[in-house]
Amino acid sequence: MSYTQQVLSELKARFPYQPEYLQAVEEVLNTLQPLMDKDPKYQKHKILERIVEPERTVKFRVEWVDDKGEIQVNRGWRIQFNSAIGPYKGGIRLHPSVNESILKFLGFEQVFKNSLTTTAIGGAKGGSDFDPKGKSDTEIMRFCQAFMIQLYRYIGPTIDVPAGDIGTGGREIGYLYGAYKRLTTKYEGILTGKGLTFGGSLARTEATGYGVVYFAEEMMKDRGESLEGMRCAVSGSGNVATYCVEKLYQRGAKPVTVSDSRGAIYDENGIDLAVLKQVKEVERASLTRYKELVPTAKYVPVAEYPAGKHYVWTIPVDAAFPCATQNEVTEEDAKTLIANGCRCFAEGANMPSSIAAINVFLKSGIAYGPAKAANAGGVATSQLEMEQNAGMTSWTFEEVDNKLHNIMISIYRNAADTAKEFGQPGNLVLGANIAGFRKVADAMIAQGVI
Ligand code: NAP
Repeated sequence: MSYTQQVLSELKARFPYQPEYLQAVEEVLNTLQPLMDKDPKYQKHKILERIVEPERTVKFRVEWVDDKGEIQVNRGWRIQFNSAIGPYKGGIRLHPSVNESILKFLGFEQVFKNSLTTTAIGGAKGGSDFDPKGKSDTEIMRFCQAFMIQLYRYIGPTIDVPAGDIGTGGREIGYLYGAYKRLTTKYEGILTGKGLTFGGSLARTEATGYGVVYFAEEMMKDRGESLEGMRCAVSGSGNVATYCVEKLYQRGAKPVTVSDSRGAIYDENGIDLAVLKQVKEVERASLTRYKELVPTAKYVPVAEYPAGKHYVWTIPVDAAFPCATQNEVTEEDAKTLIANGCRCFAEGANMPSSIAAINVFLKSGIAYGPAKAANAGGVATSQLEMEQNAGMTSWTFEEVDNKLHNIMISIYRNAADTAKEFGQPGNLVLGANIAGFRKVADAMIAQGVI
């Protein structure tokens, strides 16, 4: 059995109850064997056995009091996955589905993504099974304070710098930051995605969604095409989806779908960005509200999605951008997209495609941008926020956006060149995995067994 498959099978035996974590590891290990064959040092130093294990997992109880005076108990985690190339960095997810398997998958992905950004940051992820939906502002604040009471002792500007993710936006980051400051009396850049009045960076809100589009643009350029005039399907309607839609319009493309956990919108006239922002950023409402405001759009609830498929991927489009959550693109969805003429697929969400779906995309030869490369713009801009905080300065929107754009071009080039180096041009999954892995692994070897 090859080295990669041997490590994978041992891991499957050890963590049979962590399917998302195993899926993320499998996706990476399946592409690393050519590097292992080329350079035996990685096996000699047992890098795979080491890199699949988080350096540290902190798990804690989060107790808080709701508006009715009832005590509530949630579980919280911080998975500090790898610090070989820089301080731990990765978001905080607040969603009822959160568990250790999901956070380990996200932390593992983050290690390679952060390595690809060209900046010096390690990988981490954290979160809680707290459900922000339907909670008042004061309940969100009390939860964030309780979460930080546990977390503050494990983070710091050169130790671990968390950020947002699903369920954690500007409001939550503000409350978390306030709690950290109160607990430590320190005013320092321990979180990114902060408000602009207390150390946030311009363009951080837009960064992940913009970055995905910049990445897709590079993929298409290499194929002699542009995004201009393309019909696009987008899933999700949160931070990443909204700014993906915005940038698609700026590039002359036409996004026609968005979705949330309850249903999807198909708007043949193009998604109305102002309405989308009003519904999701201001009212924090369901997409049924979009349908109320734009009656010509079609709303399809999840219960009416075709069996085994996601509605948005059934709409014929030239390009698709999954921006909601993991495993939202099945093998059937991938086949449908390709059969309908889709020739560009760039992942805004983390691990949105099943392994079978990825294989369909790779076999088809369409431009396929894997998450750890295509959505790295968010964390890259978080690092730019850290740089501004450390230098006690702030840059203009254009400066940050230009840096982000250049980083996305570099990430694309690095993944594409590495794929070529290993004899599989166009396979950006292999290219991104090997390029991200090599830098972290070499740093681990240089730093010894610690
Ligand atoms: P967000 O603002 O909370 O939005 C998440 C969106 O996905 C919402 O529309 C949500 O619908 C939908 N969603 C969440 N869970 C779902 C589920 N189980 N089924 C169907 N829809 C679901 O989060 P975000 O920051 O945009 O993150 C979206 C994805 O991008 C995640 O995979 C995240 O890890 C990834 N990502 C984010 C960043 C970043 O900078 N924010 C960076 C890199 C990657 P509801 O509102 O109905 O729940």
